[in-house]
Amino acid sequence: MRAATNDGRADVSDAPLVFAGFGVTAPERGWDDYGDVDVRGKVVVVVEGEPDGDLFNGAYTTHYQSAGYKADEAFRRGAVGLVILAGERGWARARGGADQQRILTPGAADLEFIATLDEAGKARLAQAAGVDPARLTGGQDGRFKAFELTGATLTARQSETIDTLVTHNLLARIEGSRRPDEVIVYSAHWDHIGVGGDHAGGEDTIFNGAWDNASGTIGVLEMARELSKAPRPERTIVFAHMAAEEMGLLGAYAYVADPVYPLETTVADINIDMLPLSGPTRDVPIFGKGQNTLEDDLDALARAEGRYVSDDGQPQQGFYYRSDHFPFARAGVPALMPWHGVDFVDGGKEAGWAAWRERFGRVYHQPSDEWSADWDLTSAVENLTLLYRLGLNLANGDEWPTWKPTSEFGQVRARSEAARSSR
Ligand SMILES: [Zn+2]
Repeated sequence: MRAATNDGRADVSDAPLVFAGFGVTAPERGWDDYGDVDVRGKVVVVVEGEPDGDLFNGAYTTHYQSAGYKADEAFRRGAVGLVILAGERGWARARGGADQQRILTPGAADLEFIATLDEAGKARLAQAAGVDPARLTGGQDGRFKAFELTGATLTARQSETIDTLVTHNLLARIEGSRRPDEVIVYSAHWDHIGVGGDHAGGEDTIFNGAWDNASGTIGVLEMARELSKAPRPERTIVFAHMAAEEMGLLGAYAYVADPVYPLETTVADINIDMLPLSGPTRDVPIFGKGQNTLEDDLDALARAEGRYVSDDGQPQQGFYYRSDHFPFARAGVPALMPWHGVDFVDGGKEAGWAAWRERFGRVYHQPSDEWSADWDLTSAVENLTLLYRLGLNLANGDEWPTWKPTSEFGQVRARSEAARSSR
């Protein structure tokens, strides 16, 4: 039986092929493209993207559309490789072909190879396998079941190119007084994207990253300062400055692949990537609204201040999959990331969206992302105060935040349920 080896080479000979539709197993949605087809030692062929409509997440994509998920699921089932048929409307294509997520899980065992085929490649595959190309599409009604492409096999030989990068995550902690192995993580990435390009409105070509993400690291530092003044919490609180987020969340993936504190008893990750820089706002948008119960805890705290939790309002951005909370979520740890309010107390949403667009367009990932004495940190302090209360409540309670029934990450968390329920 063929098996993935992780020896730095893709080496697969005459592997049988299975077509698995979107390659999605979503028990919480009653959806299973694989059915009972055995893919061990085989190459799984899937189409890009995910089914349309409300059974998935409407305008917001789910993790199921990503190449990373499809690869994880195929590997979990014992496949050796994955071929993705590029779709017309897939998320990666809509984003200019740049898949922001890591396709393979850094630091973890993975498939021998992943390949993509365009329309012409798909036609050749269908011809070789002796099937109508129209059959190589994902189902939309949940009745699709995987089938073997008996007319063809696949051989692949390719060496991996490995670049070694040495950098460091920086962790600090307040050890819990009663349940020190139960951990709340506050995270923020400390890297940015270096030097180069033109001035783009900055004074030089240094990408300072003052907003993205010096502001977030300040938030975590201040959180540590304030929480160290509070009575010692019952659970441990960890302050994590993650490396290489801008290279694809590498520091957070490295942490999750080799966690300092066990993930199954990590209560939550609260990630801070770019603090809001505005006057007071009524809303507290978060990435991934509807994912887990941390948002309900946060909403209760916000309501007490006359504020409310909302979604991020930008489904096309796929924000939930783009910062350091995501590797935690992918590993099953309930994770939350607050974003920038646009419902301004002074001027409402019209003023809020205008201010947001102006700043984001002018400085995001440009040398002009520099500190300025006119930054208004009012909303940053408002949000940090809520996040302080959220973390401290978790640290002094016995709550285990959970994924909501429609979240794609609940099935991952459930695999380590025994580690929490035995407490
Ligand atoms: Zn960032």
